[in-house]
Amino acid sequence: MIPVEEAMARLLALAPALPVETVPLAGARDRWLAEPLRAHRDQPPFDASAMDGYALQGTPEPGETFRVIGEAGAGHAFTGVIGEGQTVRIFTGAPVPDGASRVVIQENTARDGEFITITDRDSGTNIRSRGQDFRIGSELAPRRLRPSDLALIAAMNIATVPVRRRPVVAVISTGDELVMPGEDPRPDQIIASNSFAIKAMAEAEGAEVRLLPIARDTESALKAVFELARGADVIVTSGGASVGDHDLVAPVAKSLGMEAAFWKIALRPGKPLMAGRLFGAALLGLPGNPVSSIICAELFLLPLLRHMQGDPAPAPRLQDARLGVDLPANGPRSHYMRARVDAGVITPFGSQDSALLSVLSEANALLVRPVGDPARATGETVRYIPI
Ligand code: AMP
Ligand code: MG
Repeated sequence: MIPVEEAMARLLALAPALPVETVPLAGARDRWLAEPLRAHRDQPPFDASAMDGYALQGTPEPGETFRVIGEAGAGHAFTGVIGEGQTVRIFTGAPVPDGASRVVIQENTARDGEFITITDRDSGTNIRSRGQDFRIGSELAPRRLRPSDLALIAAMNIATVPVRRRPVVAVISTGDELVMPGEDPRPDQIIASNSFAIKAMAEAEGAEVRLLPIARDTESALKAVFELARGADVIVTSGGASVGDHDLVAPVAKSLGMEAAFWKIALRPGKPLMAGRLFGAALLGLPGNPVSSIICAELFLLPLLRHMQGDPAPAPRLQDARLGVDLPANGPRSHYMRARVDAGVITPFGSQDSALLSVLSEANALLVRPVGDPARATGETVRYIPI
């Protein structure tokens, strides 16, 4: 049994960063930017009016009058120069004409034909200066692109972006007892549920997922399904990973040429977690118990996918909360307890059985108990992973 941290390090070492591809900006949401981008222009590209009003020189006093010599709108610059005693009708987003140093908002003026009179003082210039948002050459560092990042890149006048290729993940469920949802199961059968969570989690992390057929518990069936996984970047199995007579994942993967990285880690739930390399892909063998498989996917598969897409800190982000109950000391395995956090207080569920999907579905956090963690009292600060 190796510690969780060492398992993570060994797993990440199995998979290099994916190659870079270029995609249109409109399709880049949630993709991982692979290289820094540099703005092609200043934003705003000119001194721009922040308000509807009148552009003029200096700081006018109430009662002063100005002659209106033209108009400037967004996308319609006024090309002349504003002199003393002159003004230009201006609208939000228009370039501030040469000679003007402020925009008086229209609410502080009274218009009479081609003249305006100032009725009140403005507090500011109402001008957004050139480059106030960003300068030409400003850098956007690699990151997972959020909608606001896409707007920023568009404003930089960049239409296509270099991103990491999406990881292709092949998911294999194993077990003689499994049938697909919607089928008519015999009383001794179980509905295959793990692959649905694994697929959804991997897709949310940017992967393209291939759900392969359920592999029955024979060497030949499992081999045949493994063969279908060729070409994937990551192969994920669920079930068949412990040491029972029907647990064939490790022996069959080895017979196909797997180089093992680890098998069994000091973790609850999910001790029979296995990793290696097979067919040029990273192989992650998840336990069959639904809760174990989903938690192990959260702890290992998702960081692996982030790492492959260029995330320099792919491990789950731990947060702090105060304990809502007393907890006994933890044993020799890290324990990730299903829990709920509300208003900064975390309370683990009474039953931590790794088969209870209904409990996992109610949970919004995994309370992390490190190896050998002493007993903890209500009110102490503990760490958790939001899920
Ligand atoms: P195994 O690791 O194959 O011994 O499976 C452990 C437990 O998880 C058994 O009760 C299986 O029936 C169950 N199980 C295995 N795979 C799945 C799956 N894909 N969906 C739901 N339950 C599963
Ligand atoms: Mg099984």
